[in-house]
Amino acid sequence: MRPSRLFRSSAFRLALVYIVLFSTSVFALLIFIYWSTAGYMLRQADETIRAEIEGLAERYETDGLRGLTTQLADRLAKQQPGDSSIYLLSDGKLRPVVGNIDRWPRTREDTHGWLDFQLSGPEAARAHLARARTFLLPGNFHLLVGRDMFELQDSQKLIVRTLIWGMGITLALALFGGVMMSRSMMRRIEIINRTGNEIMSGDLSKRIPTTRSGDDFDLLAENLNRMLDQIELLMDGVRRVSDNIAHDLKTPLARLRHRLERLSIGKLNEAQRQELIDSALAEADGLMTTFSALLRIARIEADARKEGFDVIDMRSLLLDVSELYEPVAEERKQLFQLDCDASLSVRGDRDLLFQALANLLDNAIKYSPHGGTIGLKLKDGVSREITICDTGPGIPEAEREQVFQRFYRVDRSRTTPGSGLGLSLVAAVAKLHGIEIDLSDNAPGLCVRLKFPGGDESM
Ligand code: ATP
Ligand code: MG
Repeated sequence: MRPSRLFRSSAFRLALVYIVLFSTSVFALLIFIYWSTAGYMLRQADETIRAEIEGLAERYETDGLRGLTTQLADRLAKQQPGDSSIYLLSDGKLRPVVGNIDRWPRTREDTHGWLDFQLSGPEAARAHLARARTFLLPGNFHLLVGRDMFELQDSQKLIVRTLIWGMGITLALALFGGVMMSRSMMRRIEIINRTGNEIMSGDLSKRIPTTRSGDDFDLLAENLNRMLDQIELLMDGVRRVSDNIAHDLKTPLARLRHRLERLSIGKLNEAQRQELIDSALAEADGLMTTFSALLRIARIEADARKEGFDVIDMRSLLLDVSELYEPVAEERKQLFQLDCDASLSVRGDRDLLFQALANLLDNAIKYSPHGGTIGLKLKDGVSREITICDTGPGIPEAEREQVFQRFYRVDRSRTTPGSGLGLSLVAAVAKLHGIEIDLSDNAPGLCVRLKFPGGDESM
């Protein structure tokens, strides 16, 4: 993976935002740590000096110069090597009387009364910074109490150094983590891209590998894989349909060709010629009907728009279809039972619904024997359905899904004229209108139930 790509990736940019946020909060935390350690130590030292100088001033007030000098001498005597306390009592001309520094510092006090000065002399081989407070005693004596800041400064430096290192390590770790995180995200995206390219170059069977961790990328991969499954299924369907079309149109075309060939050879009388021409024309008509049915189904499937829909009174539609098919049933001596006292309104395309019902009635009449019964029923209320039942051979359960495919015909019906497109159109119309189709056994015969979408949303 090229570094420039990594830096341009949104994963890295996201990581960078987190690094900045994280470092800012760590920085704030470190400042707080400094304030509550090194700062606290300094404040403590100041507090001790202040208390000590007040104590000594009180001692002067109660026991006079003698008392104070005795106490100072006492303290100095008890001082351990490395003890950082500084005392100096000077007279009115700042000449030292008693103390552990040899002269009064030359620096001036700051506005808060603190005196910061350099220590020199035998106690401090190296120049140390000292901090002190002074007090003018009533007898024009000057008292100075302070601290050698050497140790405190050392600790402060140590703390600052530790904090700087801490900050550095934090930044380095955050940057490293950010790069690693972005790289791993990029790798996963790279896998998806690679699979996409393989699929685009023609291998639709490829799927995006998952890590089984159930993370977002796995979820995305699973969804994309499911989408690919669906696309593959649809592509298979399209391929099957084209195969079927080619297969089912080959026979009538061969017949047409054969008839035209016989016509071209000649040696036929006028009646034979006319018969051949008529049958060739019928064959061509059949082909055209099949093509227009195919086109019609394709158009319905492609057009998912429902804008042109009207509110259709299914009762009057059913009466119209029955009017057309009742004579056909009568011709076959079939009993036509129409039960449509209920009323049912549906939002849809009247022509398409008419064609679908006509196809179903055509099947019921065509596949029922002479003397059979055709039942047509409309139910309103909760069920909102139309049932078309017959007393024909029915459709075996295993084939009840397949009959909706283009050109699919149950073997037994091969002798009956038809192209196997009627139910495909019914399925397409049903899908467009959200109608559920259920095929069941009428013992004997077939019952087709059309369940219309319920109540409000269909209107
Ligand atoms: P087309 O309707 O295109 O003229 P078709 O009737 O054969 O031809 P479909 O209506 O799609 O085609 O029906 C598909 C197949 O389902 C039929 O060939 C037949 O085998 C079976 N089928 C459909 N309806 C019935 C029915 N009422 N009884 C028994 N079989 C049926
Ligand atoms: Mg049919």
